[in-house]
Amino acid sequence: MRSISLADVSCSIQGKNAVNGISLNIKPGEIVCFLGPSGCGKTTSLRLIGGIVAPAGGQISFDDELVSNSKFQVPPEDRHIGFLFQDFALFPHLSVMQNVLFGLQMQKHDEPEARAGRMLSLTGVSHLAERFPGTLSGGEQQRVALARALAPAPGLVLMDEPFSNLDPPLRSEMRRLTVSLLRGEHSDISPATGIIVTHDAADAMYMADKIAVMSDGQIVQYDKPEQIYENPASPLVVKLMGASNEWVGDVTNGVFSTPIGDFKLETSVASARLMVRPYHLNFGDGESSFKARLTAIRNQGNAHSLEIILSDGTIWEVIGDDFSNTRPKIGDEVKFQINPEDVMLFTD
Ligand code: ATP
Repeated sequence: MRSISLADVSCSIQGKNAVNGISLNIKPGEIVCFLGPSGCGKTTSLRLIGGIVAPAGGQISFDDELVSNSKFQVPPEDRHIGFLFQDFALFPHLSVMQNVLFGLQMQKHDEPEARAGRMLSLTGVSHLAERFPGTLSGGEQQRVALARALAPAPGLVLMDEPFSNLDPPLRSEMRRLTVSLLRGEHSDISPATGIIVTHDAADAMYMADKIAVMSDGQIVQYDKPEQIYENPASPLVVKLMGASNEWVGDVTNGVFSTPIGDFKLETSVASARLMVRPYHLNFGDGESSFKARLTAIRNQGNAHSLEIILSDGTIWEVIGDDFSNTRPKIGDEVKFQINPEDVMLFTD
């Protein structure tokens, strides 16, 4: 398991700042997810750590040893990293077994066949050992790619959107398997530090010890998943972590008057933004309740989504699992309430 340190790392691609001064420290055995919108620099950050691209500035160290700066670069093959890509990148002309053996032979492993066989068994694809990648389903290829990445017992595994080509049930199974292998939950498989690029907050919440939220080439928040969720640093982080309702308006004499109530702000700002998660809104007639008109009810299987219109015409969403006691009808004016702790306020 390796520790990874990035200090003020920048990289520009074709004249554009793809990564702009990122710094972070990853402890041995931690799983870190890079989460962010498309084009924010997640893949470039992973490629910088893998040594596939070189930084224009700053430095990257593994276990306190320099591996990259603008003048020096340890090549990817000497970094002892397991790679797992979105498109699996299996060698098409090699069988499943040969794909997994590939890294082991480079490493001159003592018992490569036994090790490859064990990895295929752990990832549930022993029966496919003689098949070629072109004859496998996406999920099967993903398991082989995982076996191949982990077979040489790398101290660091880099994964770029590893589950994005999988359907939801397979995705959650592969997520669970990946985490259990990275954490070394099988006695003969060494744990590894893992860095995973994803744009899916659920993947990041499930797998990560820490999430690095990226925007515009920078890390805007780096913390434990529960902190990112409970104390998001900005509206962008709120949105990345799931659906949200928002309301933007003026602040007068330090009071932010919104359709769901007045909020006193400590700072003297001209305007503010209020954000509320749909499942933090409930029916209720308490002191802090507000009225809204119900305009649609949509069944989501395990929950219902309500569309409501606030007094000023803003449309919000409410998500709940059981509306059977209240049974509001479309067109009704309904009272909702929210725990004040769940109201997120931002000033620019
Ligand atoms: P996505 O989630 O869409 O994969 P990302 O967060 O991984 O995006 P990167 O692939 O790191 O983002 O790209 C960061 C920026 O660098 C983007 O603006 C992208 O257009 C640019 N970029 C990346 N690779 C290249 C390239 N080969 N040529 C030109 N621009 C590139």
